Amino acid sequence: MRAFLTIDYTYDFVATDGKLTTGEPGQAIEDKMVSLTKEFIEKGDYVIFAIDCHDPNDSYHPENKLFPAHNVEGTTGRSLYGELEPLYEKHKDKETVYWIDKRHYSAFSGTDLDIRLRERNIEEVHITGVCTDICVLHTAIDAYNLGYKIVVHEDAVASFDSVGHKWALGHFKSTLGAQVI
Ligand code: ZN
Repeated sequence: MRAFLTIDYTYDFVATDGKLTTGEPGQAIEDKMVSLTKEFIEKGDYVIFAIDCHDPNDSYHPENKLFPAHNVEGTTGRSLYGELEPLYEKHKDKETVYWIDKRHYSAFSGTDLDIRLRERNIEEVHITGVCTDICVLHTAIDAYNLGYKIVVHEDAVASFDSVGHKWALGHFKSTLGAQVI
């Protein structure tokens, strides 16, 4: 069994009027996000939706000073974008499909993701979603530090920052030893 992570592919991060949107580059990967997620669900891999969940009134949370409010708990900005939403709804009750509300960039930070992967003897983590150079990057770094084999799907990650996107893809390969496919 492998793990397949879909990170922050929500309305706020992808839609044209999303609160912290990647815009066109994010929208351009929708079909690939959907087809890959479907493929991994159908193969019985462990598919994790790791999604930002914020409280804009939390004065202790560093992101509230860095970014406009986004993915606020209880808002539609946290819904998965486009066709990924109905796909999740269709499969969400499967034991192999898991939703994580995350507070930080990394899907591992403050969550039970590492424990769940170890319970299933999962050693290989596939990563997709947005942004390549923020949440995808931080998740990949934590996966590296925890000893996982990393696969990043190049046509299923995106960023609002094309320079950061390119840099991160290189970093995955050269520094984290990831397979970028
Ligand atoms: Zn955030």
